This record gives sequence, C-alpha cells and structure tokens, in this order.
Amino acid sequence: MKFDQLGLSESLLRATRAEGYETATPIQAQAIPTVLEGHDLMGCAQTGTGKTAAFAMPTLHTLSEGNQRTKLRTRPIRALVLVPTRELAVQVTASFAKYGKFTQLRSTTIYGGVNQNPQVRALQKGVDIVVATPGRLLDLMNQGHVDLKHVEVLILDEADQMLDMGFLPDLTRIVSAVPKDRQTLMFSATMPDAIRRLAGQWLNDPKHVQV
Ligand code: AMP
Repeated sequence: MKFDQLGLSESLLRATRAEGYETATPIQAQAIPTVLEGHDLMGCAQTGTGKTAAFAMPTLHTLSEGNQRTKLRTRPIRALVLVPTRELAVQVTASFAKYGKFTQLRSTTIYGGVNQNPQVRALQKGVDIVVATPGRLLDLMNQGHVDLKHVEVLILDEADQMLDMGFLPDLTRIVSAVPKDRQTLMFSATMPDAIRRLAGQWLNDPKHVQV
C-alpha cells in the first residue's frame, strides 16, 4: 500500500520520502487510517514490522493538523508514549523526530538510571510528545514536573513486556492521570489474558489490528 493512500498530511508524506520508504508495511496500512479516524487501537505486532511508524505517523498528523483543544501559553504534553526500556525510549523518540521533522512538534525522552535534571529542563522548555519509561515518569509526576492533563493521545508500546517487568502499578497510576477523553493505542507482541483485560479497561471500543 502506498503511503499517499492512507490519509496522511504532506508533512508526514515528505518524511516517508526522506526515509526512502516506498510502501507502507501491513501494520501501517491497517493502523494509520484507523488511528486517523480517531479510533482506539489494539495492535498485535512484533518489533521489525514497522509498528513505530504505525503509531507515530498518525499521532504526529493528528497533533499537527488537529485543533489544539486548549489555548495555553505554555506548551502542554499532548501525546504520551510509554515503553518498557530506556533503549526503546531512545529509539521511539528518534522515530518521532524522523517522522515529524517537517512538523513543528517537539518530543523528549524520560527514563531512569540517569540524572533527572536534563529531563526536567527539557520538560520545562515545553514539549508536545513525551516518550517515557513508567518508573521515572511517575517519579517526575510525583515531584510535580509532569502535567498529563492535556494529553490527547496515549500510546502503550510493548505492553506485554511492561507487564512482565512489573510496571502494572506504575502504569495504572499514570493512565489514571491522563484524561479519559483521549485516544489510546496499545501495542503488544503477545496477547495474554492480562493484556486483554487492560485493553478492556483502558481502550474505548478499540479496533484490532494484527500482523
Ligand atoms: P519497527 O518495527 O517500528 O521497529 O521498525 C523496523 C524498521 O523498519 C525500522 O528501522 C524502520 O525505519 C523501518 N521501516 C518502518 N516502516 C517502513 C516502511 N514503510 N518501509 C521501509 N522501512 C520501514
């Protein structure tokens, strides 16, 4: 499937051309139009399928095209991506930067095991998109450095791995700090009962895509 058939804006299509992507992968062809329509999504996909672009591109489209709900002087966090590891956080942030390079949107990365001050400073400058591991994000929320009240899109990537790593209590707190009136996209390589239950709790009438 060609990218220009999926409903993405020119600034996103330019990024696909800059990356040299010729066609959308199956997960992208299924997920991108569904996410652009505003549906919640449960995606069952492994790494290497192009799943990062499947959630990043329509999110960047929505944030850059859509009317911002709030008229605030400071730049609120409008998309939150939760991932299990620091490595994935860095990788997913790089993908948002790549696919969003022709938009005005800014992203930052939050993860544990390093000094928090540079992360706090990046948040204070104002970012549209935060990619975070749950533990450090919750620390920064508890210290009052992160406000999730304006999040429009919540993405849980590698949800099964986040559960395996014991992040459920942190995730539960984080999700409850995000407005209910949001779009939620959840990706998981496997679909155990625990993931199905969470999807039932956190997603609103989701569409399912599987590759
Ligand atoms: P992911 O599954 O998101 O980790 O992506 C796996 C790799 O596929 C990354 O290196 C992407 O840059 C690349 N990729 C994603 N979408 C496409 C596409 N439509 N065409 C070619 N490569 C892609």
